[in-house]
This record gives sequence, C-alpha cells and structure tokens, in this order.
Amino acid sequence: MDYLMFCNYCCKPSKIPTYIVREYFSMASHAFCQHCDEPNEIPQQVQYEAMKLKGE
Ligand SMILES: [Zn+2]
Repeated sequence: MDYLMFCNYCCKPSKIPTYIVREYFSMASHAFCQHCDEPNEIPQQVQYEAMKLKGE
C-alpha cells in the first residue's frame, strides 16, 4: 500500500511507495516533496507504522 503525503508548502500529494516508507521513513525525520522539494516532517504515527513494516 502506497503512502500519500500532502506537502505543507505546496499542498500537493506525493505518492510514496511502500519500500521507501519502510526503508527511509523509519529512520528519517523529514521527507522531501516530489513537487517543490521542501522537507516535510514525517508524522510520528507514520514513523511508527514504518518501523512496524520494517520489523515484519
Ligand atoms: Zn511541496
């Protein structure tokens, strides 16, 4: 299941593939928007979900 991130700067959605969520979101605090390249904070809930994905 892909994760949809809405940018805080341009408000456009970035579609994040599951493997990126699993490999990157579990460790990173920010994700870059695919449209404007601004760093968006990864919500704690998403980080938690990513860690769970990585653990499975
Ligand atoms: Zn953006």
